[in-house]
Parts: sequence; C-alpha cells; structure tokens
Amino acid sequence: MKKHNFSAGPSILHDEVIKNAADAVMNFAGTGLSLLEVSHRGKEFTAVMEEARKLFKELIDAPDGYEVLFLGGGASLQFYMAPLNLLQKKAAYINTGTWATNAIKQAKYVGDVEVLASSEDKNFSYIPKGFFIPEDVDYFHYTSNNTIYGTEIRKDFDTNVRLVADMSSDIFTRPVDVSKYDLIYGGAQKNIAPAGATFVLVRKDALGHVDRPLPAMLDYNIHIKKDSMYNTPPVFPIYVALQTLKWYKELGGVKVLEKMNIEKAGLLYDEIDRNRLFKGTVAVEDRSLMNICFVMNDEYKELEPEFATFAAERGMVGIKGHRSVGGFRASLYNAMPKSSVEALVQAMKDFENKH
Ligand SMILES: *Cc1c(COP(=O)(O)O)cnc(C)c1O
Repeated sequence: MKKHNFSAGPSILHDEVIKNAADAVMNFAGTGLSLLEVSHRGKEFTAVMEEARKLFKELIDAPDGYEVLFLGGGASLQFYMAPLNLLQKKAAYINTGTWATNAIKQAKYVGDVEVLASSEDKNFSYIPKGFFIPEDVDYFHYTSNNTIYGTEIRKDFDTNVRLVADMSSDIFTRPVDVSKYDLIYGGAQKNIAPAGATFVLVRKDALGHVDRPLPAMLDYNIHIKKDSMYNTPPVFPIYVALQTLKWYKELGGVKVLEKMNIEKAGLLYDEIDRNRLFKGTVAVEDRSLMNICFVMNDEYKELEPEFATFAAERGMVGIKGHRSVGGFRASLYNAMPKSSVEALVQAMKDFENKH
C-alpha cells in the first residue's frame, strides 16, 4: 500500500506524474535513451523546457511581458538573486518566519532593507497586519506561505508598490494577480517537482534598473536571453515539473485546485477544532491551506509520541512537526488526495476514542 505522504518538502507528487517520470527515465520521448543521459540541447529536451515555461505562464495567467525560468540554487539563492537584480536603494520586507528571516538577511548584503512588521514575538503564529508599505521602496517582499509555522497570506497585497514573493509552498494553489508582481519565485519541491529546480516568474521591464554589475549566473536577463539554458538546467526536475503542470491543466487549473485545497484543509482544521485532544498553533484567520500545524492540548501533551506511532502504523509519513513548533504538521499540497486527509482525520478520531 502506498503511504500517506504528509511531508513538508520534498513532498508528495501525483502518482501519474511519478509514473511518467519513471517511464522517461527508461526511455525518454522515444529516443531509446534515458532522460538522465540525454543532452539538454537536444530537440526532445528543448521542447520540454519550452512547454514547461509556456504552461507555467498559462496556468498562472501571466500577462505579456513576463518570463519563466527554471534555475538551480533553490529559493534560498533567490533570497540574494532577487535583491541583486531589483534592489537599487531600499526594499521593504515583512518577517513571517524562518524563510522570511533568511530572505531579509540576504537582501541586507545588497541594499537597505526596511522590515515593516514581524510576528517573531509570538513564534510566527500569525501574520502581522495594519503595517504601512512606504511608496519609496523598490519593492515589497513577502513569503506567501510560511511552510514551517503554517500561516499563509492568501491575497495579493493591495498596494501600488511592486511585489516580490516567495511562493515556494503555495504556488498554483490559488489564483494570483501576476500583474502586481515584479517577481514570484520558489523551490519547485513543494508543489511542482522533486528537489533541484527553482521557478522564477519575472516581469521583464523590472530588470536592468540597478547600476551594479551582475555576475552572469545571477543575472535574470542573461537567463532570459538564453531561454533558461545559459548553463545546464536541472533536466530531470524540469521534466517532472512539466508532468505536474499538465496534470494541473487537465484538472482545470488553479481555481479548481484552490477549491480542492479549501475542502481538504477544511476537513483537517474542523477535526483539530472538534477533537478534545488537539489544538491548532496559529491564528485562525491566518491558517495555511498547505501546512497544517497542530499540537496536543496541554493536559494530553504526553500523548504526542503515542499519536505519532499510532499514525505511522496507519501508513502516515511526515507528520512530525518542525522542531521550532513541535507537535504535528500535515502538509496538504496539491497532489495530496482527499482520501489521505480523511485517513488522518479518522486516525485522530480513533485516537480520541482510545483516550
Ligand atoms: C522550502 C522553502 C524555502 C527553501 O527552499 P530551498 O529550495 O531549499 O532553498 C524557502 N521558502 C519557503 C517558503 C519554503 O517553503
């Protein structure tokens, strides 16, 4: 039996996507060669790259003037690469968790950074509100989904300032108004592909306005000019990304995915709120649809290891909470079937009955 994979990342991929990837590892596009041993410049892989970039733009509904790149280095390299390309004088950030903290730290190597608000005072268990975004910044950066703490900003900010967002863990989980953004980036290993590829969606005319010299590998314009093949791209994860994007399209796109995600997360949050053993860890209005963090109520705290074993015996993997929150975290990415969420909910009910 396949396990219920609640891992936060690298994470679950759709069965069909994994099967297509396995087939291509054996025989890629009828070449008689493995995807793992072909040239990235061959016509078969060039076609994959082209289609993946095109389909990414189509699914996220990017207007003209935006480019999609698949690079290496992870979201963590983008923490530095984004300011290098976009920050001339000053940028504004909000600090909503570990990844945002890292992004702020890297941007400070490049220019002035104004941290408008932070939720560090309460272990990042809420999204700061009511802060003012100054108009004189090059961009405003935020992390849309805080993978570790389980909070999410599910709306595009209402501001005239250009937005830059780390959407590593909630890309393609809801519609986004791309026209408000100069840049959206993320590691592909949460909702698109296995580890190794980083997606970048960038507005072309936002580039070229900084006066520092840019190293070639860190220059978005060079990657754009070379059709995301300035150097050897991560061929395998890009192929898998294309399979996922095709599956998203088949399902009906981001609106359909959003509906599924609201339903799946709703099932689990309802149980967390109903079950006398468990409680959520973040402000209810800021709850993430992707990473659902919960702990045991204080009087049952010592049962946490027992529930971990109980769930593991039922085929559940990856629900241990991050060390900075404790308890449990169930990641319900796009590829997570509703049946797995139902299995977790049932396990929680059965465990409650046992105690
Ligand atoms: C996982 C994650 C990262 C780190 O991504 P890497 O690809 O490992 O660098 C950054 N931001 C968010 C929101 C994440 O979930």
